[in-house]
Amino acid sequence: MRLALYNDNQLGVVVGEMVVEVGNAVRWDKHDTPRSFRHLLEGFVEYRAAIETAALQGPKVRLSDVQLLPPVPSPGKIVAAPVNYMSHKLEMNQDFTVERLGFFLKAPSSIIGPEGTVRLPFQDRRTDHEGELAFVIGKQAKDIPASQASEYIFGYFGLMDITVRGQEDRPMRKSYDSFTPIGPWIVTSDEVGDPHTLDLQLWVNDELRQSANTSELVANCYRFFEIASHVMTLYPGDIVTTGTPEGVGPIVPGDRVRLRIDRIGEFSVNVDLKR
Ligand code: MN
Repeated sequence: MRLALYNDNQLGVVVGEMVVEVGNAVRWDKHDTPRSFRHLLEGFVEYRAAIETAALQGPKVRLSDVQLLPPVPSPGKIVAAPVNYMSHKLEMNQDFTVERLGFFLKAPSSIIGPEGTVRLPFQDRRTDHEGELAFVIGKQAKDIPASQASEYIFGYFGLMDITVRGQEDRPMRKSYDSFTPIGPWIVTSDEVGDPHTLDLQLWVNDELRQSANTSELVANCYRFFEIASHVMTLYPGDIVTTGTPEGVGPIVPGDRVRLRIDRIGEFSVNVDLKR
């Protein structure tokens, strides 16, 4: 199932090129999306049949006629992997990978939707794209081994971890407003299947910059989940992003950045200067 947020905080199921409004099936309150979203995650097993029925019967509109919003509203935290593909380790001249570096946090306030605009805070500092596979936690987790991780992952989506290069700590360089575009929607875990068989590609304008497969992750989704859950309680709605492969490069005002992941979909954001 593909779950999207769109227009005026409506909840929809994406079916082909259409989106069907399903909010009534889960008592969705578009004026309180953080609470509604958590309610949806925690009750999804019970709500699923009603959502599927609503997706067959509800009013349909073309995806091209709606504005997609961030599919995860107001996560409590964004847990992010620093160096999690060997190819990226080599290009960054890093000595260690995620297994030694651990993880960092990005500010949830840096999230924008899949039709948003990345706003660059500096004209004189290199700012890079990083295309990544991300997932959203479905139920509270602490000290969960990798072997059980899949039970706690609600679904997957694409995430761009926009990054100013430099010497400041990662959470600062990656947390400017608009530095975390996510989308285009959440694909539930059952529909994604094995998350470690997905091709991931990122283009800047028409230039293919990044192309990899999630089979190349150093700490895969489940292992990285384990690392995070041994440190902190993961709550429904929290985001975990798995790191980027080689090919990171600069973005400048006027660019259009497109991220595509198998079985999930694609989205594009514009790049402009900070207002
Ligand atoms: Mn990253």
